[in-house]
Amino acid sequence: MRRSFFCSHRTLFPRSPESYSPRGRMAPKTSIAEFRELVNKSNRILAVCGAGLSAASGLPTFRGAGGLWRNHEPTSLARPEAFADDPALVWLFYAWRKHMALRANPNRGHYALAKLAMKKDNFLCLTQNVDGLSVRAGHPDSKLRLLHGSILDLECFNKCGYIDRLNLNDPPCPALAAASEDYPPDQTMPLLDPNVPTPKIKVQDLPHCPECKTGLLRPVLCGLDDAMLKGIDDWIEQGPIDLMLEIGTSATVFPAAGYMHEAQNRGAVVAVVNPDPDSAGGLMPDDFFFQGSAAEVLPQLFEGVIGKTDENGDTAPN
Ligand SMILES: [Zn+2]
Repeated sequence: MRRSFFCSHRTLFPRSPESYSPRGRMAPKTSIAEFRELVNKSNRILAVCGAGLSAASGLPTFRGAGGLWRNHEPTSLARPEAFADDPALVWLFYAWRKHMALRANPNRGHYALAKLAMKKDNFLCLTQNVDGLSVRAGHPDSKLRLLHGSILDLECFNKCGYIDRLNLNDPPCPALAAASEDYPPDQTMPLLDPNVPTPKIKVQDLPHCPECKTGLLRPVLCGLDDAMLKGIDDWIEQGPIDLMLEIGTSATVFPAAGYMHEAQNRGAVVAVVNPDPDSAGGLMPDDFFFQGSAAEVLPQLFEGVIGKTDENGDTAPN
């Protein structure tokens, strides 16, 4: 199947809120006990996660009004053209997001998914999040696909092939120190104030590729990798899917929206975990909707398989 190679925000398969009436006969199930039974007996499980999974970790989502960074659209800054045009500005944005991601900790939702992945052989988790929190929660690499890349992975912008995974340098280099400063909650960080000029940074002081020595390094974001997409397609095409989890995402961003549709076509029961009731639109009577934060809800939903989860994400068998 053909996919776009760039993150876009096209709505592919919109669910209309009108198609779901909480009191109507089309209302999805909400029973945790019934859902636990389904998880127990499910073999092939596909999960798609979005910003809502990391919300309880305190990370900004850049969605909706006000989702700008210094008057720039984050999706525009992610474009290669923006990096080529002003690498220092784009690096300041990335360095700030990396600092935020490293300062945050995985929440109980990340740990619950990681534990489920360890227990279920045929579980594949696709995340739209670039914060690296699923990786830090110990989610097995073989069962996790980073649809939009990771702020912690760096690649050579010259495409020489160099890649540095799980780079934890914060700041990424001394010239970007302004992006890693912490301010009290009542104070605006100067970097986030569009009226304060950004620090002057020379291109030669930005992180460079140690391999070809000429290319700039840049986080691996947004560019959808052919081999990864083929691997996901292969997994989906292996057979029927028992359960599709839609966690903290409105799933309107390509390619996540397409995967949800494909799982439904392969017979999956869909379970939506989201604080927003509109996200349940279009669910069928055999589907499930759990309104709430992924950090609260997921440990309860998976308890039958992973045991009870404590605040640190540690589990004890039932
Ligand atoms: Zn290079």
